[in-house]
Amino acid sequence: MVATQPATDTIAITRTFDGIEEATHRVIAQIGGMESVIRGAKIAILKPNFVAGRNAETGSTTNFGLMKAVAEEVRACGAEPVLCETPGTEFDRDATYTILGVEKFCAENGIRILRVDPEGGEADWVELQPAGAKKLRRYRIPRILKEARLINLPVLKTHVVSTMTLSMKNPMGILPRPDRRSMHTFGIDQSIVDMNLGIKPDLNIVDGSVGQDGEGPLYGDKADLQVLVAGRDSLAVDLACCQIVGVKPRDIPHLKLALEQMGKPSWTLAGEDVGVIKKFRLPEQKALYRFIFWMMYPLDYPYTWVAERGKHLCTTLYGTGLVGTRPQIKEESCTRCGKCVDACPLPNVIDIKTLKVNYSTCQRCLLCYEACPENAISVKGYSGARQ
Ligand code: SF4
Ligand code: SF4
Repeated sequence: MVATQPATDTIAITRTFDGIEEATHRVIAQIGGMESVIRGAKIAILKPNFVAGRNAETGSTTNFGLMKAVAEEVRACGAEPVLCETPGTEFDRDATYTILGVEKFCAENGIRILRVDPEGGEADWVELQPAGAKKLRRYRIPRILKEARLINLPVLKTHVVSTMTLSMKNPMGILPRPDRRSMHTFGIDQSIVDMNLGIKPDLNIVDGSVGQDGEGPLYGDKADLQVLVAGRDSLAVDLACCQIVGVKPRDIPHLKLALEQMGKPSWTLAGEDVGVIKKFRLPEQKALYRFIFWMMYPLDYPYTWVAERGKHLCTTLYGTGLVGTRPQIKEESCTRCGKCVDACPLPNVIDIKTLKVNYSTCQRCLLCYEACPENAISVKGYSGARQ
């Protein structure tokens, strides 16, 4: 996992106009080829952003075409591509995979799915204590990463909590949920920097084929950027991404801390100099929302002492249907056509007789909202989703 990174990274930027698979092969060639990443390893962990069941067309999750091309390159080097990703704590992994079609995609493309215990059971995890960490002094990574290469595949998008989520934040999804809770509790921005002292991907390819700005990472505005950005140094890659979307890195709290504590990396550019493709709108900073969101994490410690293993405060709160982005059917506008039920990838979430949504199983993908021909579904809660 820990690459011997050259002092000056190569950052490759390419557009995806000719298709994302072609662009992925091109950008890998531009950074020196997949052999220079795999270097004889038998396994490469692919870490996409599958934070929730919102497909890549929305700019929320990593494009399957990118993963397919990366897996082909990994196999061509004699290594096995293995997917490792657990969605946000408020979402169920199996349900998220069902909505996105992850199992079918992986089966068709020879990618093994590694299902590590999200709660951090000892067998699957190994602890890191990176030197120089200020807040997140210890955390766990999947044991397999001790031997495997790590290929980080984030999406180029904004984030209502961390302002942007790029290469430096994306590895959070391979940490067990108790350690992600620590990151939020201790302060997400410094914790991201600390996490990057221990996790150094062998390759990052940021998926900007479709990104998201505004109220990302799930319900922001789709940004049709059609670009991929690759490199080994996560901070350098993220700085290059900021240039493409006209964002000052010092306006992103974890990048500001990283620059102060790690120094500004240097890189040479391969591929295209694309300038600013779209000036991103950063999420509105809502202090009250951020405080309430943050409070869920320290309160989760006592909650998990008494709750069933695997249950967290945020999932229980979401299950009440009182918080979070969620669909709600307006009885007066509904014709009971059933199109929302057909659009929902999960069984028995919408009850067409009562017009109620089961919020303990609903994964907030909003496919029902998009399918309703009568505009009879509203989206409740803080989000950028349009009404
Ligand atoms: S798709 Fe809309 S109109 Fe049809 S049943 Fe669902 S909520 Fe009602
Ligand atoms: S009810 Fe709607 S938002 Fe919930 S999982 Fe089904 S389609 Fe997605």
